[in-house]
Amino acid sequence: KSEKLLKLQEDIEGSVVSYPKNMPIAIKRAKGSIIEDVDGNQFIDFFGGCGVLNVGHGNDFVLEYVKEQQADLIHALDFPTENKLSLIQKILNKIPEEIQGDYKVSFGGPTGSDAVEAAIKLAKIKTGRDGVIAFSGGYHGMTSGALAVTSDTFFRKKLTSLIPNIHFVPYSYCYRCPFNKEESNCNYDCAKHFEWILETGHSGINIPAAIILEPLQGEGGNVVPKDGFLERIVKIAHKHDIIVIFDEIQSGFYRTGSFLEFMNTKAIPDIITFSKGFGGIGFPISGLIYRKDIEAWKSADHIGTFRGNQVSIAAARGAFDFIEQYNIEEYTKLIGEYLMKKLKDLALDNPFIGEVRGKGMMIGVEFVKDKITKEPFPEFLKKFRSECFQRGLLFEVGGHYNNVLRLVPPLITTHNIINAALEIMKEATVVCMK
Ligand code: PMP
Repeated sequence: KSEKLLKLQEDIEGSVVSYPKNMPIAIKRAKGSIIEDVDGNQFIDFFGGCGVLNVGHGNDFVLEYVKEQQADLIHALDFPTENKLSLIQKILNKIPEEIQGDYKVSFGGPTGSDAVEAAIKLAKIKTGRDGVIAFSGGYHGMTSGALAVTSDTFFRKKLTSLIPNIHFVPYSYCYRCPFNKEESNCNYDCAKHFEWILETGHSGINIPAAIILEPLQGEGGNVVPKDGFLERIVKIAHKHDIIVIFDEIQSGFYRTGSFLEFMNTKAIPDIITFSKGFGGIGFPISGLIYRKDIEAWKSADHIGTFRGNQVSIAAARGAFDFIEQYNIEEYTKLIGEYLMKKLKDLALDNPFIGEVRGKGMMIGVEFVKDKITKEPFPEFLKKFRSECFQRGLLFEVGGHYNNVLRLVPPLITTHNIINAALEIMKEATVVCMK
């Protein structure tokens, strides 16, 4: 049945659809961390809807909020509702205590890209400046502004112009340090490059309105920056009155074991974009959390038909309550550590795993031909993914060279499921090494 549906999709849906060809399934239903295809096969879902399904597919607790809300009201544009204001209050109560009271929330359209567009616009309007500095390996979405700050040329090479005055600087990707430094003699040269651009007077780049970066890069390969990097970047940006946008669309909503990843650091951004996991069980939602004192919007400066979707908002409230009631924040840290340790054990027996890194349930495994030269080995990962799929495990691939296995499973994934996934990975390793 899956094959038939895949063929039909190829015939009648735009060829822009993107699903991994070596995971050929049509999905019938899903619950928790398990997906079932139309032929009744079950798969462990470590794809997590690309970091969306933090509380698990079809979470019953959240579904109750959804059912109740949809019986009352689904679409409300920007009119106030108790449902919406209660979500805003929940969000504002979760940011660090020392900045509580200083921030506001606004909702965007249904996707993460909408939030990124809004953040860039707000920074431009507030500063009266043009231009954004973004980071290598960063992914921010597919609409023109969001794509312009996404570094992967694969997505941009067929487009001659996006939005102007975008420049990229290195991200702190220590495994592949752009300055060839070892951790022991690193002096944050990546951050210095950013500083140099702003301060030399000869970089040819005007002071931009904003910088945008992920506090833990997702599509770029689940890259955790070196401790202190974010703080340095924020300090340099603020010295020049540049608005700092942290894109937490993927790293947010408890993915890394904290409500937002920046809360694991001392860096404080001016604008935070959110989406994905905030929609609870996959409902579309996005928005900004931003400092009140950069408020530059006047009513209707930036509008959007679907930003008042009450069911998405109710799902978000449900997901917050679920996380709190079942202490998922703590659980994510513990289960993430467990998964990380097991993957590091697996790496000991696999000469092609160069690095296992991550935080909470956002973990990357980078495949290389040789641990010393670090030459990327996407071919191995491709085969490995296919072998895992055959045995019932789904995951995403990313990174600069498509050589990083990206794990963003539901945060509620149990030890048993993780053990089963690891068994699959072990078997797949043996087959791929032959
Ligand atoms: N920012 C980040 C960090 C993301 O990971 C993504 C999606 N992968 C986006 C923005 C774009 O979100 P969407 O696909 O919903 O537009």
